[in-house]
This record gives sequence, structure tokens and C-alpha cells, in this order.
Amino acid sequence: MSIFIPIKAKIKKHHVIALGLFGLTATLCWLTGSQFLSMHQKDTFYPSAGLTIQTKLSEYFPQLADTPGDTDVYCFKGEEEGGNLLILGGTHPNEPAGFITAVLLLENINVSRGTVFIVPQANLSGFTHDDPFEGNPQKFSIETPGGTRWFRFGSRLTNPIHQWPDPTLFTNAAGQALSGAEVRNLNRSYPGKEKGHLTEKIAFGIVQLIIKEEIDLSLDLHEAAPEYPVVNAIVFHENSAELAAIASMELQMEGMDIRMEASPPSLRGLSHREWGDFTKTMAILLETTNASHGRLKGKPSEALIVEGKDPNYAKASRLGLLFVPYSEDGIPIKERVARHLAAVHALVSGLRELNPDLAIDIGNFPPAQTVNERGIGLYLHSPK
Ligand SMILES: [Zn+2]
Repeated sequence: MSIFIPIKAKIKKHHVIALGLFGLTATLCWLTGSQFLSMHQKDTFYPSAGLTIQTKLSEYFPQLADTPGDTDVYCFKGEEEGGNLLILGGTHPNEPAGFITAVLLLENINVSRGTVFIVPQANLSGFTHDDPFEGNPQKFSIETPGGTRWFRFGSRLTNPIHQWPDPTLFTNAAGQALSGAEVRNLNRSYPGKEKGHLTEKIAFGIVQLIIKEEIDLSLDLHEAAPEYPVVNAIVFHENSAELAAIASMELQMEGMDIRMEASPPSLRGLSHREWGDFTKTMAILLETTNASHGRLKGKPSEALIVEGKDPNYAKASRLGLLFVPYSEDGIPIKERVARHLAAVHALVSGLRELNPDLAIDIGNFPPAQTVNERGIGLYLHSPK
């Protein structure tokens, strides 16, 4: 008997250690799993009283119904006839100024003439995950007078849970050959495919919206790294060159330095190229500067997304390596959103100047200067 006692004790101790390790693993899995799944919880928006109708992209392409690509479309229709405008945010969910500008507009505006369509989260699937190995926070917050609003910070690409596997090489619907992962990049997938991958179907749905609603002007709001040459820019299809010129002159007169970039005809699959080629809309993409998007950034954090301060970029700017000025004060999201707002405003004014029949009268438009001076929170609805 005495021989078995130590063995029993040893087995018991071994079991206790195994049980402890199992418990630790299960806790870690639960913690990381619930964090992972929390990205599938939708952001809450509070449309203004001026909202006419809220619908889904599947209204324009029914195959998107009940898919992770079926995103919300907010329509503000004026009583008077005028132009039709589409504002797209969240094509790339890791470029928050574009997405937040769309949210700011849908929570404030009313339209008395013409119609404004807003899609704040164009690639809804991209908001359900973030990029591996980037170490980005999953969410960021903006203070409003009535409390803190939280928003997801997603990935440039569609979630691989929703579209997998990636091919080695991806040739998009416009015929451009790209690396495999770009098959999940909405802004390489236009004009989309009716029977394509999820991302191509989303692109197809957006093009159907532009066609069916006879959108006169379509704006795709983005951000880019400070070292990227096309930044603080209006990228325009040749069908909207005159409009882009009028708007950029207005912005320059307001003291906002903005570059004009013509959409290269050989770069296929992008909104500013294919929207203009495949529909009658004037197609424009807007870029602001986002350090959290760049390769030179330091530690990724919520503060970097919101405040935009990064000593590496400040140093790169001093060395003349950037395309935009970047001081120690950084480029906060309020300044980036203000820039988008000013550009949208200038383009809508320019459209009226070019063709008075396409005038769009937007009330309660958040003023860019006030947003820049006093912050975004002032124009966001308080959380309920
Ligand atoms: Zn982008």
C-alpha cells in the first residue's frame, strides 16, 4: 500500500496543475474571444430629424440582403427638386475621419432642395475586425456634451470570416491585376460584380445606388499616411475636373491648402475612376492625413487616432520627408474631419455654380471652422 500513496499524490498534483492551466487557457480564450466578438456589435448612430428614409444597400442590389455587406443608407430628400449627392464614408474602416464626417453629417443635416444619400460604413464587414500585427485599438472614443461616444476602428479590408480564401493574384472587374489580399479591398473592386465575391457585390450595390438614384455627385471620403503622395487632396475623375478646380480654389481662399490629383486612367477598380466611367455621376475621392495609418508611426493607440500626435512623423516632417506639414502638435481627427467637411461644402457650392439646376440646399451643415476649433463632439448626438 505504501508504494501507491506517493503515486496517487503525484497524479493528484499533476491533475491540479493541468486543471489550473486549463482554467487559465479558458479564461484567456474567453477574454480574447469576447474582445474579438465585440467588434461585431454595430456602432449606434442618431440620424437627425431631417432624415427622410433609412434603407439598406440591398434595396439597390437584393443579393446583399442578410449578408455582412448589407450596410445602411440614409436619405435626406428636400421638398424642392435639385441635384443628388452621395457621401460615402468607411470604404476603409481604418481611416476614421472619412467615416466620422459621414456620421457627423447624418446626425445634423436637413435638406430643403435636392437629395443627399449618406453611407457611413461602406464596407461594413471591414468594421468587424482589425488588421493582424498592427496592434491597433479596436475602438476609439469622442467626448460629447452628453457623454462618451465609441466607434469601431476596423480594417482596410473585408473580414476574412466573410470572404475567404484570398487568391494569389486578384484581377478585378475592371481588369486590373492586383495582389491577392486586394480582393477584399472595396476601393479596388469597382464597378463590382453581380456574381462576384462579397466585396465585389458591395461595390456592385454602390454602383447600382448611383445609377438608380441618378446621383450627380459622388464623394468617397478617405485618409492616407502622411508619407503618401496623394494626401490632403481632391482626386477627381476627368468628368469632374472643373468642379474640383472650383472647389479647390474656394478652399485655398479659405486658407486650406489642398492638392488636385487627376484620377489616373490606367489605375482601375477605384471609386474615382470606375464610378465616373460606368455611371453618369461626377466622381471624387477626398484624402486627409492620418498618422495611425502610416508606416513611420510609433505605438498604435486610441490617442494616436484621435489626437494624431506622433514624434516620428514630426521628425520626418523636419527632415522634409513628408508631403504635408506635421508638427509636434499632430493632426487631430477634428482637423481631418473639418477638412472633409470644408471640401464637401465647397464641392456642393461648386456644383450649384456649374449647374444651378443641380443645387442642393443643406441646412445645419456642421461648420468646418467650428469643428476644428471646438471639436467633433459638439456635433455628435449624445449617447443614449
Ligand atoms: Zn482609403
